[in-house]
Amino acid sequence: MRNIKELSRQQLAEWLKEQGQPAYREKQLFRWICKGASSFDEMTDISKDLRSSLSEHFSCESISVELVQISKDGTRKYLLKLIDGNFVEAVFMKYEYGNTLCISTQVGCNMGCVFCASGIGGKIRNLYAWEILDEYLVCRKEAGEDINHIVLMGMGEPFDNYDNVSEFLKDIHDPDGIGLSYRNITLSTSGIIRKIYTFADDFPQVNLAISLHAATQEEREKLMPVAKGNRLDDLIKACRAVSEKTRRRITFEYALIAGQNDRDEDVKKLSSLLSGMLCHINLIPLNPVAENGMQGSTKDAAMQFASKLEKSGIPATVRRSLGRDIDAACGQLRKKHT
Ligand code: SF4
Repeated sequence: MRNIKELSRQQLAEWLKEQGQPAYREKQLFRWICKGASSFDEMTDISKDLRSSLSEHFSCESISVELVQISKDGTRKYLLKLIDGNFVEAVFMKYEYGNTLCISTQVGCNMGCVFCASGIGGKIRNLYAWEILDEYLVCRKEAGEDINHIVLMGMGEPFDNYDNVSEFLKDIHDPDGIGLSYRNITLSTSGIIRKIYTFADDFPQVNLAISLHAATQEEREKLMPVAKGNRLDDLIKACRAVSEKTRRRITFEYALIAGQNDRDEDVKKLSSLLSGMLCHINLIPLNPVAENGMQGSTKDAAMQFASKLEKSGIPATVRRSLGRDIDAACGQLRKKHT
């Protein structure tokens, strides 16, 4: 039986019209879905007759929390079970500016970045838009707190699932439901250049983050196979074009790997690469993943790297590495349980 959450708002309106229902029913149903309803019985302002007709035609199941790990710093890492038995991860984090949820867009990932546990085993499938929204709804319910920032930075490459990610963004932004501001959403890509241009046209207010991790084509290719078909100079050209068009700052994610990309020569190359661009670098000492043997830079080395970048005119911060006492590196929790 088809899950009602798979229907777009327009499809939902059409189905209701066929049933002879007034147009406002669609908004009521959409609101219930965005409240996280997982059965039609919960939809108390909808007539019994319509509820029973809905349950004859559709299911209303939600994805579920299989496991939650809670860190001393308040970070909550979720293993979420999809209806078909696959698992994805999400992470709830507390920052000064508000609660943030990092969500997944695919089961597994095809990008194969060498420092990432999510890519091990490749992509199993794309998530549907409603499943991405459900990640937000079930984690919000479990955490018992509002979540006002979203980062699409979990498992998967969002631009490898563009249609579902676009639909999700429109749904979570929709004022009839959650109404989350586009400015409170950040999408992170490994750097699929043609989609960067499309995304800037479609969602100019959503923040764009790029997984950079190296300052030269050669070094980047060693870490990220996607760099072979998406050259660094073209990537930076796209980022400059986007930040000029949207007048929004681009964030570059840079996982610091001891002795590999945290040297003085890397500071020099990075600052010349990004010179004059409206941007910011987020430095994150790499969370260790058993399979690749790479070590994250020390906190001291990270702070020094940031301060050298700042001196050369590139704004940089060392991101707090939240949830270090739990399996916070992307993909590790799922790997343990599958
Ligand atoms: S870092 Fe992101 S894009 Fe790269 S393999 Fe992991 S999930 Fe995929």
